[in-house]
Amino acid sequence: MSDIITVKNLVEVYSDGTKAVDDISFNVQEGEFFGFLGPNGAGKSTTIKILTTLLRKTSGTIKVAGLDIFNDAAQIRKIIGVQSQETTVDGDLTGRENITLQGHFHQMTTEDIKKRVDELLVLVGLESAAEKRARNYSGGMKKRLDLATALVHKPKILFLDEPTTGLDPQSRSAIWSYLEKLNKENGITIFLTTQYLEEADKLCKRLSIIDAGKIVASGSPSELKADIGADSIRISLENCSRDNAKAKELIKTMNNVNQIVDSEECITVYAKNAGLLIADIVRALDSSDIRISSVTFSQPSLDDVFMKHTGKRIRTEELVKAPSAIWGGARR
Ligand code: ADP
Ligand code: MG
Repeated sequence: MSDIITVKNLVEVYSDGTKAVDDISFNVQEGEFFGFLGPNGAGKSTTIKILTTLLRKTSGTIKVAGLDIFNDAAQIRKIIGVQSQETTVDGDLTGRENITLQGHFHQMTTEDIKKRVDELLVLVGLESAAEKRARNYSGGMKKRLDLATALVHKPKILFLDEPTTGLDPQSRSAIWSYLEKLNKENGITIFLTTQYLEEADKLCKRLSIIDAGKIVASGSPSELKADIGADSIRISLENCSRDNAKAKELIKTMNNVNQIVDSEECITVYAKNAGLLIADIVRALDSSDIRISSVTFSQPSLDDVFMKHTGKRIRTEELVKAPSAIWGGARR
């Protein structure tokens, strides 16, 4: 498969001196579902704005469908669809009118627009709300309408900037299924940014993890997770500051332990077959009078990948839901 987006050494420095994107390179293949995963302020929107010709790059080389981002901007705009982070829905217009208006912007014929609008309303499940003013739509409906308007001219490449941020889980999974359909059935190349690990993991065939303007890791979700090479056990202690060092001493001597790091819970242990180790850890700490408040076990997630490369966690509501709690009380 050939590359449809190539980015080499992209740098973006805003006029106030903020280096939002710091020398990133990546490529997206035709038909691929590609993701940019990173926390707030990582540089995701900046990158997407440059790729969609809305913002001028400071330096670097970018090709979209073989076209130059600066010289061929008008041609690029014809073949891409863009859903920006802020919804662009016009509340005074109905859902149908919003999509129709976008069709006119793309200079489609009235007949083509009508047919396409009907199709899109079905695709995003807004047929029954089509004649309602968009200001009365829920957040999820607005995002779905935004997605439909981005698709009106049948783009080859769809750029989505955090399409599900702030949505409830149900609306989020509805959007996931429309996106998967567009990618699998219609062969649209999708470039998506997200802060949600679960979203990147589920949708993206390949992704780059971005933090503070730099790409810290790239690959398929399974490659990235396999690279961690270990499960994790997160241990929180009743008195972390007092017992942390002693607990680490005890755990260090156990078999199959790869790495022990300080983490927000207190201690995170990376180990092969960590499930087998939990009982040993609990017993050892218990017999040394170190009181544990909880132990959670998880197989590697993209958050562990992020942690490994940045020493931080991506903070989203997904993290509030603890992974399967094996022993002890709730986290935080
Ligand atoms: P993300 O979309 O990943 O949250 P952004 O691309 O929006 O990140 O922002 C990257 C960095 O650039 C942040 O530090 C942000 O504050 C900064 N930034 C974004 N837009 C501007 C701007 N117009 N002027 C100056 N700094 C900006
Ligand atoms: Mg953003």
